[in-house]
Amino acid sequence: MSSINPSPPSRHLPTELLELVFIHLPDPHTYLTLSTASRHFHAVANAKYTRINFASQWFFTYCDGIHAPEVINWIARFIRRHCGEPPAICTHYDYKLARSRLSSKPKVIPNIRERLHIANLFYDTKYGPDESLWQFSSLWFARRREKFMTEILPRRMELRGESVEDMPPLEELVLDLEDVVMAWDMVGSWQQVAIEDRDDIWENFTAFAFNRWRFVRKIHGCLCGKEGVQVDEKRSIQPRPKKRCGNASSERKEASRTDFNTKRMKA
Ligand SMILES: [Zn+2]
Repeated sequence: MSSINPSPPSRHLPTELLELVFIHLPDPHTYLTLSTASRHFHAVANAKYTRINFASQWFFTYCDGIHAPEVINWIARFIRRHCGEPPAICTHYDYKLARSRLSSKPKVIPNIRERLHIANLFYDTKYGPDESLWQFSSLWFARRREKFMTEILPRRMELRGESVEDMPPLEELVLDLEDVVMAWDMVGSWQQVAIEDRDDIWENFTAFAFNRWRFVRKIHGCLCGKEGVQVDEKRSIQPRPKKRCGNASSERKEASRTDFNTKRMKA
């Protein structure tokens, strides 16, 4: 009788197989669409294991320097590392001071803490907060970028039991589905550039924007969350005060977050 009213074969897929299907999907929009197919699909797609393995697999496959620039993986980490309430503050190598001392005797150049403009996330504000670079590399307008930084990422971290104030260094961050949503648009932006224009950073705005991100990674970097980093306090702005936990339940939450982070650092 099953041939009269057959149930979809996908309903019988074992969870492990369904996880593998989701992890290897080519883009986040297919992922999200497929997650609405049934309660079982939704539960599997929404599980942390599936989401972070999908993100890991996706960045490995598509931000490989062939499909799209590998710097997109770093950009996604940089954006996540500085999310939260503005101003975003970054500890980094003081390239500007180093450059100004090029002609004098080499000295040890200390690191500084500097504000990042939330809409562009670049250190160099010599020409004002130029919002076009992140926009040209993602096609996201300022409001969407701001919402991603101040609402979506912090909320997702809270759901994962992590704290914006106690994030590990950029290299140790665990990327998630929402990072792929952002990065997917960066890949789309890159693929709109004609192949012959991709190296032409002085003519093509998108190529210039990606080159600028590479410059930020190479020249300034990000030392946030790293231990033992010396900072020139005089030339730095003060770090953001940590949010105080006012009651026992939030203290418990904080304790479990720290525990979680410690476990992850050891893993
Ligand atoms: Zn930083």
